[in-house]
Amino acid sequence: MLPDLKNLLDLQIADREITRLKDEIASLPKRVAAIEDQLAGTKAVLEKAKTAVKADDGAKRKYESVIQDLRQKISKYRDQMLDVKTNEQYKALQHEVTFAEKDINASEDKILELMINAEAREKQVKAAEADLKAETAEIEKEKTEARRKTMEDEGLLADWNAKRDSYRAGISAELVRHYDRVVKLRRTGLSEVRDHKCMACQVMLRPQTYNEVRAGEQVVICDSCQRILYFDPASEVPSERPAGPLRRRHRPKADSPQAWLYRPDYAGHGEVLISLLHAEGSSSRRVYDFNTGRQIGDILIREGDYRLAFPEEFTGDYVRLNGYWNEPEMETWGNEMPMIVLDALHADLAAARAESAAKPHHHHAAAAEHPAAR
Ligand SMILES: [Zn+2]
Repeated sequence: MLPDLKNLLDLQIADREITRLKDEIASLPKRVAAIEDQLAGTKAVLEKAKTAVKADDGAKRKYESVIQDLRQKISKYRDQMLDVKTNEQYKALQHEVTFAEKDINASEDKILELMINAEAREKQVKAAEADLKAETAEIEKEKTEARRKTMEDEGLLADWNAKRDSYRAGISAELVRHYDRVVKLRRTGLSEVRDHKCMACQVMLRPQTYNEVRAGEQVVICDSCQRILYFDPASEVPSERPAGPLRRRHRPKADSPQAWLYRPDYAGHGEVLISLLHAEGSSSRRVYDFNTGRQIGDILIREGDYRLAFPEEFTGDYVRLNGYWNEPEMETWGNEMPMIVLDALHADLAAARAESAAKPHHHHAAAAEHPAAR
């Protein structure tokens, strides 16, 4: 592998680790702050509970003094009762005494209520105090742990920064600049190539590009996402093709609503792939460069089914291929067929040629599909 690429891979690892460490260092005070918030909440609960206890104590003292006052009044009434002259006066005083006794009863009920409540209040205070103690201990532990972790991370960060600098020094300046630019835009600057695809943007690579990446002897950049491409032999997907003889090739159907043709020498273009589609009384023709999959010229539409509309394509040298892409799908290709389609057509042509070569009485590949042969 190119030293530049090896250093870039190491640089990517260092960059990831540096980002992770920085994030972790930033997150540690946040964790401590969250527990501090909780602690403040518990403190508020405790204060409220203590205030309630104080308020209840005040209320109890107030009722007690009310009772004392009433008792003094009653005693005064009783003294007056000894001196009264009339029955009416006596009854009035008796009434006052009864009234005051009722008030004493009511106040005593209130005091009892407060005393029962006081038990619950005390429990609230005790619970809040216990929470506060536990949380205070926890926050001290958390703070110690955060300090320790921060120091550890900062040590690691310094190591990684040093490694990063040495990796960067080992990469050509222009390439480092490109890497930095792509990282800034897309967060990562490298992408693995697997199964002919750029794994970061999922775009299929041209066979030549793929081979260059595999060889690892030059820096190859993804046309689509601009990431620097690399190939890891360890993650290569094993070929799906069975090791034994190739499965027999499907013979394209003559009455299919579409036809795919290979022509080795198309007027002024050399090798091309042609698609013919028949729909609703007319046929369309698209011509693609055999090697690049780029569309050549415009789509041509003529009346009738494709054999009648484009008889010239079925004369001379041609090989009929298997193709199953419909018009809406082809519309999405724009002016270039996807690599996967191009690969399939190339593979089918190879299979057709191999089949033809196995039959010595046909003098060329097109013979089986040549109109004269049917
Ligand atoms: Zn890409």
